[in-house]
Amino acid sequence: MNEDDTPNDAQPAGWREWLGLAPRAQAPQPAPEADPDATSGRAMTSREIWLPAKRRLLAQVADFLIDHDLETMPFTLAIAYDCVTGSSPQLAQRILERSEKGLPITLKWLEEASSHQARNATAEAVAELVGELEQNLTELGQTMAGARNATGTYSTELENHFADLQNAGAGADLVGRLTVLTRAMLDHTRTVERELASSESQIGGLQARLEEARHIANQDHLTGLPNRRAFDEMLDRELRQARLGNETLCIAFCDIDHFKRINDTHGHAAGDRVIRYVADTLGRIANATCHVTRHGGEEFAILLRGVSLSESWARIDAAREEIAEKRLINRANDRPYGKITFSGGIANMMAYRNKSAALKAADEALYAAKASGRNKVLIAGADPKAVRDAA
Ligand code: GH3
Ligand code: MG
Ligand code: MG
Repeated sequence: MNEDDTPNDAQPAGWREWLGLAPRAQAPQPAPEADPDATSGRAMTSREIWLPAKRRLLAQVADFLIDHDLETMPFTLAIAYDCVTGSSPQLAQRILERSEKGLPITLKWLEEASSHQARNATAEAVAELVGELEQNLTELGQTMAGARNATGTYSTELENHFADLQNAGAGADLVGRLTVLTRAMLDHTRTVERELASSESQIGGLQARLEEARHIANQDHLTGLPNRRAFDEMLDRELRQARLGNETLCIAFCDIDHFKRINDTHGHAAGDRVIRYVADTLGRIANATCHVTRHGGEEFAILLRGVSLSESWARIDAAREEIAEKRLINRANDRPYGKITFSGGIANMMAYRNKSAALKAADEALYAAKASGRNKVLIAGADPKAVRDAA
């Protein structure tokens, strides 16, 4: 087990308090001193009003650093401030989840978690913008189509009147002038019609490019798999579908075993190639109702709808076996990587009271697989021996 994942039994409980999840044990408070201004009737200055709040905030930031045994430096201070003030709710949630697993919040882990968070925030903002633009373009497209239809009807009407005027026998002078006027109006209307059609086709092109941008925002750049953002969207969509159709929905988390060793021995670029290899193998089980996504780092999340828990397990376990049987060579120096394996945990979401309980169960099954020797996929709540026997 590596340094980051060593369970930290001595993890102080203070983080719960700065997240506002548990009351901080009250230190004995000094008896309040008599307020010299209480009787003087003098109005408090704004400094006097805000000072206690400032002190509390600084104390919470200090508690965060002390509780997690972190150095006092600009990076950790900024993170502590963001977590304490609620500016980084997702990061605070990840810290909470990690602490609940008894894992330490190390400087290295914080660096990774916060850069992941920054990337996510940017992707989130881009996706939101793309969504808004798409909505605006759709509305504009509808308005244009409506305007073009109206202009088209108007042109046809004008055309009919123009023919009537030409056929009229009497009042040649008046008819002549009206004919010229109608001809001019008709030409103008046709120009407008052409311009509207061209704008509509430009809108169509923009919509296609936005769709492409949305696809890029949802894709993991290293593996080409859907990324975590996409996974979150898919999860909600698939859950709705499964409930509507009364189908099963299985969720699996897979994590490459001892991946740090690969990075340490072969370098980060080789580590990237291993991630891609595992992603490609897992990706082959994907289809319209099975989504394989990169959940972050060397971890993958898989959703399978309408497939029984045992069949879902069998598909993922087959991928595990395929990878474990291969002997990969680092193409940069021809050195063998050794055995590459992953561990997995799988749960049927329909068997849990809500989404987070199901995700937690799959995650716990993954950790049980790690703890019981790795290179295996465990079913949440099942006896590991029963799963081995079924295999
Ligand atoms: P375990 O069997 O317990 O999962 O051990 P592990 O070494 O795989 O432990 P852990 O999950 O903590 O390590 C993941 C490592 O993956 C840490 C990080 O440096 C590395 N990593 C995360 N993202 C990437 C990436 O995109 N490329 C590479 N090469 N490494 C990454
Ligand atoms: Mg991992
Ligand atoms: Mg790992």
